[in-house]
Amino acid sequence: MPTSDLWSAIKDLLRPRLSADDFDVWFAPLAARASSGNLTLVAPSRVYADYIRDHFLPLLQDLAASAAGSPTTVALAVESQGTHAGPPTQRGAPINPRYTFAAFVPGPSNQFARAAALSVAENPARAYNPLFVYGGSGLGKTHLLHAIGNEVLARNPRSHVRYVPTENFVNELINSIRLQRMAQFREAYRSIHVLLLDDIHILAGKERTQEEFFHTFNALHEAGHQIVLTSDTAPATIQGLEERLRTRFVWGLVADIQPPDLETKCAIIREKAHAEGFDIPDDVVLFVARRVRENVRELEGYLNRIIVYCSLTSQPPTVDTARSALSPLLPQERHATPADIIRFVAHHYGVKVADLKGRDNRRSVAFPRQVAMYLIREILSLSYPEIGKLFAKHHSTVMYSVETITEERRSNPSLDATLTTFVEHFR
Ligand code: ADP
Ligand code: MG
Repeated sequence: MPTSDLWSAIKDLLRPRLSADDFDVWFAPLAARASSGNLTLVAPSRVYADYIRDHFLPLLQDLAASAAGSPTTVALAVESQGTHAGPPTQRGAPINPRYTFAAFVPGPSNQFARAAALSVAENPARAYNPLFVYGGSGLGKTHLLHAIGNEVLARNPRSHVRYVPTENFVNELINSIRLQRMAQFREAYRSIHVLLLDDIHILAGKERTQEEFFHTFNALHEAGHQIVLTSDTAPATIQGLEERLRTRFVWGLVADIQPPDLETKCAIIREKAHAEGFDIPDDVVLFVARRVRENVRELEGYLNRIIVYCSLTSQPPTVDTARSALSPLLPQERHATPADIIRFVAHHYGVKVADLKGRDNRRSVAFPRQVAMYLIREILSLSYPEIGKLFAKHHSTVMYSVETITEERRSNPSLDATLTTFVEHFR
């Protein structure tokens, strides 16, 4: 594809994702040069090139790859030392094409919010208005907002969608007041068809901003435009929020996102690994999922660390390499050793450690032995062969023991309670 076509194709993809101001200020003045697999954008000044690199490069890379149909590296160059007029407007931030509904792993913890977001994206302003999504940090609120943006744009590339971190809204408002550009500020916001306002809880205690947002909200709502808000807590528990805003936030639908359960965490790890083209065995998935309490962002961080570690050390992803990769992040872990667990189990069931490790297969010894294997697996995530070595048993025996206890735990509440206490004791 000739350079000019590639660049204009990218600009077409870019335009609906940015405010008109951002687009005009940042992208209209760029010139483009291309060679195979490379696109160089020539900016009028260093400041300019730096800003684009910091704020838009990943997006440009993605869009260039989709426009060219093959991986394309985007670089920035500076034409001359010319100066450029004003600072960028703060309005909005690009919509990340990677945060789609397809890339969002559903689970019991998020399916309500996901379904609500999807119906809003399919029917802006006709499903729920506003949609208010809340939940703890790193649970996917921002991802869902972008997913709505991407979906709305996919269905109607002309619709005026804006993703705005609330912080930008606040800064922009302050600047507009200072520069006496309130009329432009209002006009710009009121023409947005789908406003995706992220982290609204930071309005807490900011009276002037709340006042202005109240009017923006009313104008958009009355005009039949969609508003989607996210917050780290429910509307009722945002401190320092005006009552009239609180009332409006619950006009439409309020949906929460809870921390993911173990299965959802595993599915998310698999999805992210797959997106990176990284083959990850199930026991490593489980190892990572178990180590992250409730934050998906952290889950990704762990996975990325493992990917980088494996590539730098040219090792395959096993539970052992994962453990080494994550060891600096897991400071208080590994207090318990397999020997500790075996001793504990032996003591609890009144048998000798030597018996647990021996060949006696009477139930009074075999059962505690199975429990010990199960706990070592559960608490330390050792592999079956590793556990086998501790007991001088074949790994299939270990696997069978772990399965037996897993099943028995399901049907036997008192065993379940005992094992829960054991596990907690070692964590
Ligand atoms: P929040 O805004 O709630 O703090 P984010 O939306 O930024 O959280 O999510 C943090 C990271 O976790 C993002 O990279 C996001 O893609 C990922 N993530 C969260 N939930 C999911 C999910 N259900 N499926 C896939 N990725 C998820
Ligand atoms: Mg967020």
